[in-house]
Amino acid sequence: MATPGTTISQNSGTITGTDGTSKTAASNGHDPEEKRPRVSSQTQAVHAGEKRYISHDSLTVPIVQTSTYTFEDTASLINYMEEHMFWDVPEREEYGRYGNPTVRAAEAKLAALDAAEDALLLSSGMAAITTTLFILLSQGDHFVMTEDCYRRTRGFCNTFLTRFGITCTTVAPGDYDAIEAAIRPATKLIFSESPTNPFLRCVDYARLVEIAERHGLRTIIDTTFATPCNVRPLEYGIDLAIHSVTKYLAGHNDLLAGCVTGSFDITTALRQSQGILGAVVDPHCAYLILRGIKTLGLRMRQHNESAFRIARYLEDHPRIRRVWYPGLESHPDHEVAKCTMTGFGGVISFEVEADGPTTSRFIDACVIPRIGPSLGGVESLIEQPGIVSYFDTAPEDRRALGITDELVRLSVGIEDTDDLLADFEQALASM
Ligand SMILES: *Cc1c(COP(=O)(O)O)cnc(C)c1O
Repeated sequence: MATPGTTISQNSGTITGTDGTSKTAASNGHDPEEKRPRVSSQTQAVHAGEKRYISHDSLTVPIVQTSTYTFEDTASLINYMEEHMFWDVPEREEYGRYGNPTVRAAEAKLAALDAAEDALLLSSGMAAITTTLFILLSQGDHFVMTEDCYRRTRGFCNTFLTRFGITCTTVAPGDYDAIEAAIRPATKLIFSESPTNPFLRCVDYARLVEIAERHGLRTIIDTTFATPCNVRPLEYGIDLAIHSVTKYLAGHNDLLAGCVTGSFDITTALRQSQGILGAVVDPHCAYLILRGIKTLGLRMRQHNESAFRIARYLEDHPRIRRVWYPGLESHPDHEVAKCTMTGFGGVISFEVEADGPTTSRFIDACVIPRIGPSLGGVESLIEQPGIVSYFDTAPEDRRALGITDELVRLSVGIEDTDDLLADFEQALASM
């Protein structure tokens, strides 16, 4: 597996104010990073982004629970307005929809983790995706998307965006010739997930960037399933990384949020649009994100190791027909994943050697994983995609997408692996 190449100089987005002073865009500077040239993503997860936002000698970033901010006098208000016009990210805040110190600290941490110039937090992963596509695309534009993207993302592209005259061609994951063939003069960007849901297909970033650069297109990766601990797409030249922070980054199945990381120019454009579209995160949620990310490295290590062991166990089990996990040699993108990722994540998809109802009996017999949608939290979750995400899809359309009744998606939490294995053993024996 690739070694985690951790770069520390994330703040290349330096901007200069009217008075000639300069400041950095992501403001993620903190001593461990400044003093040492290279630290691991776990050290970044604990410290990055916080220092500037800490006050009253507090160790942790305060929750600045306010909707608005006041000014000493009219002169300071005018001064702020002038700065804001030229600086994009002013030193202070004005109104909650345009910024909040707790939110900014979480954004700075996320930017550091993705080795990005800046990050923008939004109210959900879907808000991150919809805001980004709304801002980067205009009437008459076209884009290319891999066909196994998150169902709501596809829904947004095929229903909302078409109403604004924006069209999209979907191509099979892993088919780079089809991506290239889909590009036309109106094409503006390529959007993909990696790993995808539920089959965990992994993008060859270098290949995608090469195609995009040849055609002058932007690239966006929804990297929710990987997290910056396992891969940082921006280091391969991908323009924007999108995360559903709801999943691994926050990590505790207790909030909804999304983020976009990338160049300061694009995140600033998105930030200005967010002030209009309004999908902001509240300060308490931002605090939970900061707190959750501190253990990201520890949690991801456990998710990666535990899921790998469970995937191997399932692959060898006679009652399991097929397993999809990028760490397994049997996975179609194993080579790509091995070369680009430092861990393969906590989600495993598999087909039980049975019919749909028997598969449901297996799921019902599991004691530790709870039945439910979502993934990436400390609690293991299990579901049949045919009953959750694809319940309202016609059976023939489901089958065309490979979503059989026997397909199970498991999000491995941080419970003890031996306990989980024993649970699957008894559940498979009882079905
Ligand atoms: C969950 C998810 C989303 C949507 O995120 P929300 O936070 O639920 O809005 C988008 N993409 C992927 C890959 C996801 O798993």
